[in-house]
Order: sequence, then C-alpha cells, then structure tokens
Amino acid sequence: MEPIRSICIVGGGTAGWLTAGILAARHGAGSGVDITLVESETIGIIGVGEGTWPTMRSTLKKMGISETDFFRECNASFKHGAKFARWVTGQESDFYYHPLMLPEGFPGLDLAPFWMKYSAERRDAPSFSDAVCFQEAVCESGLAPKLITTPEYAGVANYAYHLDAGRFAVFLRDHCVGKLGIRHIVDDVTEVVKSGTGDIDSVQTRNHGRIGGDLFIDCSGFRSLLLGEAMGVPFVDRSDVLFIDRALAIQVPYEDPQSAITPYTVSTAQKHGWIWDIGLQSRRGVGYVFSSNHTTSEAALEELRTYIGDGHRDLQPREIKIACGHRRAFWKGNCVAVGLAGGFLEPLEASALVLIELSADLISTMLPATRATLPILAKRYNQTTQYRWDRIIDFLKLHYILSQRTDSSFWIDNRDPGSIPDSLKEQLELWRYRAPGDPDFMSNCEMFPAASYQYVLFGMGFRMNADQQPPERLFGSAQRAFAQNETLKTRWTKTLPKNRELIDKIRDLGLQKI
Ligand SMILES: Cc1cc2nc3c(=O)[nH]c(=O)nc-3n(C[C@H](O)[C@H](O)[C@H](O)COP(=O)(O)OP(=O)(O)OC[C@H]3O[C@@H](n4cnc5c(N)ncnc54)[C@H](O)[C@@H]3O)c2cc1C
Repeated sequence: MEPIRSICIVGGGTAGWLTAGILAARHGAGSGVDITLVESETIGIIGVGEGTWPTMRSTLKKMGISETDFFRECNASFKHGAKFARWVTGQESDFYYHPLMLPEGFPGLDLAPFWMKYSAERRDAPSFSDAVCFQEAVCESGLAPKLITTPEYAGVANYAYHLDAGRFAVFLRDHCVGKLGIRHIVDDVTEVVKSGTGDIDSVQTRNHGRIGGDLFIDCSGFRSLLLGEAMGVPFVDRSDVLFIDRALAIQVPYEDPQSAITPYTVSTAQKHGWIWDIGLQSRRGVGYVFSSNHTTSEAALEELRTYIGDGHRDLQPREIKIACGHRRAFWKGNCVAVGLAGGFLEPLEASALVLIELSADLISTMLPATRATLPILAKRYNQTTQYRWDRIIDFLKLHYILSQRTDSSFWIDNRDPGSIPDSLKEQLELWRYRAPGDPDFMSNCEMFPAASYQYVLFGMGFRMNADQQPPERLFGSAQRAFAQNETLKTRWTKTLPKNRELIDKIRDLGLQKI
C-alpha cells in the first residue's frame, strides 16, 4: 500500500518536459511527490513537432507560464487551424480549411444540411468552412486571433501555436527546473534495472549511479527504452492504414525578416504524401512526409525543392524514418510511455503533442496512488489511450480516403477498402444520410469533435444523400446564423492585426496578465 512518492521521467524532449511540468503543476513541491527527469546530452531530441492544438494554451497556463515569455523565447506564432491544399483534386485552386472554431450555432444548430442544399443550388456558394465560420476569412487575410489588449491565453478566435521544437524544450526545461522544482539529471541511461516482480526498480546512469522511482515515465523517444525494450511491450504496426513512413524536414529562412507570418498550418498534398509549412517568427518549418513504398527519397527531395523554390537549393533537409504505430499497451507495471516512446502515426493534424498533454493530464489526475492500485490505473489508462489512438487513426485516414486524386498509386492505394478501419467505414455509411453530430462521438475521451469531421468531410467534397432535406422549422435560425457569420467576418477582418504585427507588439510590450 506504499504511496507513489517518486517519479522518474527518462527523456527531455517535448514529451518529457511537458509531462514533468503537468505533473509538477498538480503534484509539485510540498505534495510529497518528487519528480526527477533524466536526459541524455549525447542523444538529441527529435527537434520537429511545431504545430499544436488550442489545448497547449491551458497546458502552459496551468504550468504557470507567461504567454508573453513563451512568444519571446520559443519563436512562436499564432495558428488558427490548417489549410489543406490540393488534397481533393490536386488542382492549383483546390483547398479547404479546418479551422479551430466550431461552426456558428453548433452543436445546437447544425448548419451542414442547410449549406448542402444551398451549395447544390448555387455554383457561387461559399465553401462550408467559409459559410459557417469566420476564421477562414481571418486566415486568408493573414490576421492574428486576438488584439494586443486581449489578455494572455484569451482570444477573439480560438487559436493554437506554431513553435520551434528545440527552443520549446529548453524553455520548458528552464521553467520546470527553475519554478516547479523538478530535479534534472543530464546523463545517459545505460541500463534499466528490474525488480523481482517485473517492475522497474531503477535506471542505471553512466555518471550519476542508479536513479530509483515508484513510477517510471518513458519519454525516451522512438527507441522506447523502458516500455518497449525493458518491459517488452511489443509495437503494433499501423502502416496498413496510414502509409507515411519518411519525413524530409528543412528550415527555410524568410527572404525578408519582416515577411508575413502565415497564421495557419499549410498542408499541401503531393504525389506521394504531403508537405507541411509552418510559419514561425524567424523562419518557416517545412517538411515532406511521404511513403517510401511509393517513391524514393531522391524523388521526394525533388518534390520538396520544387515546393520551396530555387532560391533555397543550398538547404539540406534532415531525413527522419517514421514507424507508424504504437505500443500494444502504454502502461505496464510501474512504467508508462508518453510521446514517441508510446508511438507515432504522422504529423497530419498535429495530434502528437496534444496526446502528450492529454496523457500527462490523465497520469496526473490518477495520482495520488499506491503501488497496489497501479494495475487498476494501468488498465484504465490503456483503455483510454488505445481509444484515443484509434480515433486519431480514423480521423487521419479520413483525409486520404476522400481524395479524388489519381495521379499516383499512393492516393489510389489509400482508398483501398482493405486499408480503411471498420469503425470509419461505419461512420461514413451513417454520414451519407446525416452530417456528423455529437451522438457519433459519445466518449469523454474523444480526440476530434463532430465539427472537425464536418470541416474535413465537406471540405473534401463529401455530400450527404440529396434526399435529406434540412428541417423547415429551422430555416429562420439557419439564415440568422449564416448572417451572423458574415457580420463576424466583416468585423474581425477589419479589426484584427496582422499575425506578425501582433507578435512584434507582444515581444515589445507584452500581453496583459489575466
Ligand atoms: C516529421 C515529424 C513531424 C512532426 N510534427 C508534429 C507536429 O506538427 N505536431 C505535433 O504535435 N507533433 C509532431 N510530431 C511529433 C513530435 O515531434 C513528438 O511527439 C514530440 O517532439 C515528442 O517527442 P519525444 O519527447 O517523445 O521524443 P524526443 O524528442 O526524441 O526525445 C527523446 C528524449 O529521450 C532522451 N533519451 C533517449 N535515450 C536516452 C538514454 N539512453 N538516456 C537518457 N536519455 C535518453 C533523449 O536525450 C531525448 O531527450 C512530429 C514528428 C515527426 C517525426
């Protein structure tokens, strides 16, 4: 019945430091729980992972971080969502948005059937996201989601961040060590020492001896040193569903230091995958994720170079191998994996950092605990986390199966029914007759809300059966909601500052503390 008093985290990437910070914010100094983080100086962090979800705002706030400091230290910028270019037909004009705000009136009022009827009648009808959410217009104008007078972490529009992964890890480290009392050891773990029960007793380091703990959190990256190697939890390959297995990542400087900063992630479909383009303060982070079963690294590099333009031929990308999948269990005995040590799919929709935040949050709410209750916690944690991974897989796959591209076997293979999870097939069958709604997502562990499915489905040209007429009694409410969206578009495109302008002001003046 001994209580969990000491937690040892192995790994100082974003997963390690976010987990440490989230745990310490809740169970820090004075709570009787000691947290130690050990990270290697020689094994670097992955150094990519620059797109986040709005959850990062509450995570940073909870950890007691000033949003102004975050902007000053992490090369950060505002993100309204993602723009998907060339995913549907591959044409130059083909794009849609997945904004971070719910459609006007949602979920009480579902505008999808009204928009569908309107867009079937009028060729000049706006896109779904433009008709129901003012954020697309704000994005197209390159604007920030708030004003300099809006306090820290509050927004006019819902927003997330783009950030420099390397700087973010250092920023979190300094905060966790300096303000939250995390013990930090820089050393290599050379051995994981197990006890007679099969639990982890301690980790052996090169220069600091053994580090013990009641609970071990594996944030050691792709290698999964504790959960995978020491605890023997096998890897479940999900590349039968999602085909991306390589990334070419490159940092592109702005031609002019005052260039506009794009306030959304641009994801442009290519012949054998897609390119992410993330605008930070001093540079863009760009990368091509592709399937090595469908093209070579050399051909992918040419596609990437065409995308970034001739002016940057001197820049050398970094190639990263991606094993698409996750561990069969995420928590075994007294060891739980967070971040890449638990698995990774691909960067589409930036679902990895949010999963780290949610996982760390879940671990933190499960404490205090005793060693005797660990099996119960492990069971619950594994059920929740597995559910989350499955829902992310469904949502990512949705982007590929709705594409009409036929220019390569990558896109054609992605639509092979054998590669589509049954859970997603079932949803699509239902959505032929009605738009995705909250009843389709009943768990309190959902990752993507029904509105996200609506944005992607209708953005990618999916249409419900035309016989389904919107309810007549709601026509008035729908008209008012569409009109309200137009009013908000006019108001905010006139009022919000440019993304760079606001970030410069934040750096100079700071945001008001809440
Ligand atoms: C191409 C690509 C693009 C991505 N884009 C996004 C995105 O836009 N948004 C998003 O949310 N996520 C993204 N991700 C995922 C994101 O990068 C990771 O989830 C995140 O960075 C967390 O990584 P990590 O901390 O788990 O691992 P790492 O950064 O690899 O850190 C591992 C740590 O473990 C330590 N370590 C390893 N072995 C030892 C040892 N023996 N002893 C001591 N320490 C050790 C290392 O020193 C390091 O500190 C992307 C991933 C890839 C591959």
